[in-house]
Amino acid sequence: MKKGKFTSELIAPCGMNCGICKGYIAFTHRLPKVRGKTTYCAGCLPRQKNCYIKRGCKKLTKHEVKFCYECAEMPCKHLEHLYSRYREHYGMSMVENLKMIKTKGMSGFLKSLQQRYLCPRCGDVVCVHDGKCYGCNFLQKKP
Ligand SMILES: [Zn+2]
Repeated sequence: MKKGKFTSELIAPCGMNCGICKGYIAFTHRLPKVRGKTTYCAGCLPRQKNCYIKRGCKKLTKHEVKFCYECAEMPCKHLEHLYSRYREHYGMSMVENLKMIKTKGMSGFLKSLQQRYLCPRCGDVVCVHDGKCYGCNFLQKKP
């Protein structure tokens, strides 16, 4: 498989793909900073800080598990909170993502991301938060 827009380094333990996050897109596209609105983020794993999910989970902070799907408690209260918000507002389910990594492997998951989040117009990435491609300003309709 040729190297795509999405790599396993950008897949966070919770099943979030940082490549489609507004914070990461703002960082890589150098979007103008708007106070209180634009966050620059290099991605959950690359920046090596404890996120909301990691802070609440000893298994992740102690590196007993790498992804939440390795945990028998998935979805725990923490993940449930995050994932219901994403499912409701952004049409994406972290738990479905995690299950797919488990069943299809990382490369299968990355392939499905390419199909779902690549801009049909320019091949850049469509943001999960606002459905916009920052490469060409294409706007994807909400699913
Ligand atoms: Zn585009």
